[in-house]
Amino acid sequence: MSKVDYLLRSVVRHRDADRQRCPNCGAKNSILIERKLVVTELRRCDACMMMFRTPTDAPAEAADFYNHEYAQGFTTDMPEAPALAELKARGFTGTEKDYSYYIDVLRQLGAPPGAKLFDFGCSWGYGSYQFARAGFDTLSYEISAPRRRFGVENLGVQAVSDFEAWANSPEAEATMDVFFSAHVLEHVPSPSLIIALAQRVLKPGGLFVAFVPNGSAAFRSVSPTWSRLWGEVHPNFLDEVFFNAALSRSPRLFGASPVTIDEAARGFLTSGDPSHRQLDDLKTAEMLCAARLN
Ligand SMILES: [Zn+2]
Repeated sequence: MSKVDYLLRSVVRHRDADRQRCPNCGAKNSILIERKLVVTELRRCDACMMMFRTPTDAPAEAADFYNHEYAQGFTTDMPEAPALAELKARGFTGTEKDYSYYIDVLRQLGAPPGAKLFDFGCSWGYGSYQFARAGFDTLSYEISAPRRRFGVENLGVQAVSDFEAWANSPEAEATMDVFFSAHVLEHVPSPSLIIALAQRVLKPGGLFVAFVPNGSAAFRSVSPTWSRLWGEVHPNFLDEVFFNAALSRSPRLFGASPVTIDEAARGFLTSGDPSHRQLDDLKTAEMLCAARLN
């Protein structure tokens, strides 16, 4: 959608009460964090603490958007055959989609070699491919059918086509060691639904690992351009306040990339203590939230 169309739609909807409700939990009350383009607002839900943009999208629009309109440069531009061959030959090393940092973080968090990993929101499969090459037994999901198909056909990605149906099935229950997502939860209508389904598919003590644009007050205080991180394409803006509410029963860690997870932090995660630790002062653009669920 063009900027003008987005603005017009926002103007039409900005007094629609349904489009002011929290997309995560449906609650009515929220507080204003920031206003942009006169009619669009970033608000924090009083109930679930998630920051979200209003007017919100109608539920059916999300899937449509990701299948037809979502374009974020390299993330969604599927490469031509020669470019893909080159990327595979170098194992994506040194490219914009090099996952070696994420793989290193998973190892630091204590994910064992051969761990069963679910890659939620895998786009065209570059990350799932690298996880598999690093020895993780990887299963993936991507909402965009063309990108999912590209990963399956060209990168050997193993993917489920209907995440909710799979996650609710008896064969998925308690099967995964790691539930991973990078730059996905800020796009979905209800991150709490995804967390609940992650809890279902993870084995007891399994790792929930999410990287998101850093919505923390600490980062906002040092970034003059943080406002660009919410809007049409990023309807949610996630921070430790939300994750603390959503994962209140699990030990959880927060950090800003690049993170280092020491023995004490690893030990805390396995302690069962339902509280949180901060790895640093959260002042860079990417936030890690890691928790051991159940
Ligand atoms: Zn809410």
